[in-house]
Amino acid sequence: MTVGRFAPSPSGRIHLGNILCCLLAWLSARQKGGKVVLRIEDLDTARCPRRYAGQMIQDLRWLGLDWDEGPETGGPDGPYFQSERTALYQAALEKLEGLVYPCFCTRAELHAASAPHREDGQAVYAGTCRTLTPAQRAERARLRAPALRIQVPDREFSFIDGHMGPYTENLARDCGDFLLRRSDGMFAYQLAVVVDDAAMGVTEVVRGADLLSSTPRQLYLYQLLGLTPPEFYHFPLLLAPDGRRLSKRDADAGLDNLRGRGTAEALLGRLAQLAGFHPSGEPSTAMGLLGEFSWESVPQADIRLPENLFS
Ligand code: GLU
Repeated sequence: MTVGRFAPSPSGRIHLGNILCCLLAWLSARQKGGKVVLRIEDLDTARCPRRYAGQMIQDLRWLGLDWDEGPETGGPDGPYFQSERTALYQAALEKLEGLVYPCFCTRAELHAASAPHREDGQAVYAGTCRTLTPAQRAERARLRAPALRIQVPDREFSFIDGHMGPYTENLARDCGDFLLRRSDGMFAYQLAVVVDDAAMGVTEVVRGADLLSSTPRQLYLYQLLGLTPPEFYHFPLLLAPDGRRLSKRDADAGLDNLRGRGTAEALLGRLAQLAGFHPSGEPSTAMGLLGEFSWESVPQADIRLPENLFS
């Protein structure tokens, strides 16, 4: 049975990027007769207060994208808020113990020691704290609470993305030891997403291409935890009309604005047209797009939004 998921981080009002993500995840799973799980990725509780999650749920309902398991709906794999699942992340962390070490680097130190930056702008961790002796660790722990990192091997992790094709990364060279928990105790996305997708029986992950380069790290964690990874489908990013990455500051792309300007069907029809599988652009329900959707029709290159989405 195919199990897809919506995994939004509600740090603001749902925007076009989230909507496209949920639409594609829904179509991809439903077309195979699969079910959909809604998980709220609110690890950063300060940035993702509950009221935003509630609003996001209402917005998804307005769009007509339904799910089988999630907050309110319930289901066997809850809780569906990551902020309520920390015991599971802690248990996974303990399983990885032999490879995990405390990192005391400050932001400034990380910046100063940064090895070459990767394409996505993230620094490759230089491994500074990997070789500290127990005495040095104890000494530093007196001054500062450490973050936790996992050692990565010097080898390639490859997979075939269902949409973008083959992708490979050498974790030591391209990423470095990565964070599993921040110094303030917050679990890292990479760990939480793996634990949750596996625990919720997710068989396909649909998300933006900005997360393509996270996948090798996640595959490494799947391997270490003895879990089966899902299939991955990364879709192209939406760009503002001037070519910039869409951000929360693009008020036009927020659903509060969009809801005032047209129906859910008009919005889905336009988005589906931009995503390549609904040439007419006519208003449509999500259900109405099921017959037309195919991953082959979706472009691989980023999609630039027109000046006026509804003209
Ligand atoms: N919560 C992430 C986001 O909203 C998505 C993570 C994922 O799909 O793996 O960007």
